[in-house]
Amino acid sequence: MGFLLPLLAALFSLSLAGPLLGARAEEGVTVTLTSASAGDPGPGLPRIVGARDPGRPLVVLDPGHGGRDPGAISPYGGRREKDVTLAVAAAIRDELAASGKVRVAMTREDDRYLVLRERYEIARRMGAALFISIHADAAPQNDGARGATIYTLSEVASDREAAQLAEQQNGSDRLAGAPVGAGAGVNRILIDLAQRESMDVSAGFAALLKREGAPYFPFRPDYHRFASLVVLKAPDVPSILFETGYLTNPADLGYIDSPAGRRQIAMGMRSAIETHFARRRLNLAGAR
Ligand SMILES: [Zn+2]
Repeated sequence: MGFLLPLLAALFSLSLAGPLLGARAEEGVTVTLTSASAGDPGPGLPRIVGARDPGRPLVVLDPGHGGRDPGAISPYGGRREKDVTLAVAAAIRDELAASGKVRVAMTREDDRYLVLRERYEIARRMGAALFISIHADAAPQNDGARGATIYTLSEVASDREAAQLAEQQNGSDRLAGAPVGAGAGVNRILIDLAQRESMDVSAGFAALLKREGAPYFPFRPDYHRFASLVVLKAPDVPSILFETGYLTNPADLGYIDSPAGRRQIAMGMRSAIETHFARRRLNLAGAR
């Protein structure tokens, strides 16, 4: 199944249009490459840092919230989620860039508002191989709650809390009056196939992030949850939403909101991301 996702992604790009650079034959089917495959981000897209080789996979980091949407507010010092997520994403970007094995971009590098669909559309248009939306949790009624959680896409929420998160996050688009989950007018079967493979890859990455991240920062016991989050709905880009920890827990806030703590998060994330792509390369080589 390893070849299916890139193939479908290419077909999907073709059907959604975009600047066409040329066509080539692959697996007996003619596919068309969009500008996203060439390494140049194109007008209006964020800058890419890290590996210079355009053949290296691109990771798009998405700092949650921003602009008029502050996200959760910490009861300790009033830190806003939108500022915390931006700082955490920047730390991960810098760690990945210094290592130089992947290319990396951020959906926002300043305090601006983006609707959820815009966030994953940036990843799609850039030809991202992995999309990571970064958030920080809040449990105002339970300041003992702590640790990181990873969400991946499912139409059925894994529990009540996951369902509430989806409702709350998806609702942030109402600030801009954007339609939630508007359907693309392309072949539903192709999208469903691509989405299914993306969901499998995303779940695999979630398990890897727990394994590689656990030496660096704490996770909740039920660290992998499922929810129907709009920001995870790019059909052709494996996507996770990473809740770094709780703004309502003093210990979590201590590391999420300190340079040393953010570096720990970044090191765990880098290890997971680089292992993920090393595995994907092996799988693809094995499939030939
Ligand atoms: Zn959030």
